[in-house]
Amino acid sequence: MKENIFVYAVCGSEKHIATFNFSLRHLKYFTGNPVIVVTDEARNKGKINHDNILNVPTPHSLTDKEASIWLKTRLPEIVPPGNTYCYLDSDVIAVSGRAADVFMHFNPPVKFALDHCPSDEFSPWAVRCECIERDREKHERYLLLMNQYRQSEEKYIERNVPKREVSYKRFIHLRDVMTDFKWKTSITEKNIMLKYFLLLFRPYPYRFGTFLKRHGGYEWDRWKRRIYDTDGTLLYDDADPYPDFTRFVEEHFAPEESRKILAERKARDSFKVRCTHLHESIRNKFNIPEPEPKWRHWNGGVFLFNETAKEFFETWHRFTLEIFSDPYWEKRDQGTLIATVWKQGMQERNPLPEVFNFIADYNSENLKFDPGNGFTRDNFSTYIHPHLVHVYHHFGDKNWPVWKWIESLI
Ligand SMILES: [Zn+2]
Repeated sequence: MKENIFVYAVCGSEKHIATFNFSLRHLKYFTGNPVIVVTDEARNKGKINHDNILNVPTPHSLTDKEASIWLKTRLPEIVPPGNTYCYLDSDVIAVSGRAADVFMHFNPPVKFALDHCPSDEFSPWAVRCECIERDREKHERYLLLMNQYRQSEEKYIERNVPKREVSYKRFIHLRDVMTDFKWKTSITEKNIMLKYFLLLFRPYPYRFGTFLKRHGGYEWDRWKRRIYDTDGTLLYDDADPYPDFTRFVEEHFAPEESRKILAERKARDSFKVRCTHLHESIRNKFNIPEPEPKWRHWNGGVFLFNETAKEFFETWHRFTLEIFSDPYWEKRDQGTLIATVWKQGMQERNPLPEVFNFIADYNSENLKFDPGNGFTRDNFSTYIHPHLVHVYHHFGDKNWPVWKWIESLI
């Protein structure tokens, strides 16, 4: 009988095995599908907590990391034919009972989800072109800033943002209205005569309370310095640390932009390291057309396949072995996955929905998380509810709300 089977390829250090065991526990909790673990037992320093194991010896010349990539890119040769498989990296964690819905999205031979950035941002991490070194200072400053930003925002959200989702949306709206007001009145703030003149003859839109009332019906209590929603819910308290937060954002991200998201995007763009050294190397090394720099490449963390994918995997495997002996290339499977996709002309294919390989990027400026409501990319206006979360860094970071949430699920 044709089955839908999850498969891992893992071997090596105790830490890697522990990561895998964590992932397996969540997967078993949320799905009832069979799971196969492909491994090279001779390499394992920890115990795999599973009984359905396929032991495949790997070449001795490979490091443990290379060996697990070796196994991963040979999967259709290893697992029994006739089934549909969903491969998971060990740092992909099931977080919902709908994780197994992933199989409904299969169309042969393979189906991958997208990575979180265009391939030109990935390029400096795939080959040793020295672009990262060149921009390291810039990059580190960016990470530092983002970290401060996130901490400041987390504190702020914890203390101030209304917990109910409706209030949350109203709050975000209110914040925008206040920013608009500040923006519109920035001239009158500098010219006191003009301010009084306008307040006398054209009170709206230069009076704070009236402005709020007209843009959403908010009530401004000027004595207590609080703003209430139409139903009396407290949305904003001027006595809270909000001013610190805005000041921080303005100082570092928004010297001339009033809208935070735009400013963040600008900040991000100015810090990103991009290049096409990977693309050039793919063209030269494998003699195939150069991938588009702005093409958003596939992520190797989750993919569906069956026995019809052999040709795809043969190419991926062969390319990967070639780069293992090329010092210019980092020893990973993602760059050769890009090469394989472009060689097969599959770059236009529909990807797997993001919820099945949701990349929880610790450093993302757009991505925000609230344990009660989920992930958001538009400042809590809409939410994403993933089924499989890819924790590719900060795995096990107990200070990270996303990790705390993952641990609390089972
Ligand atoms: Zn480069």
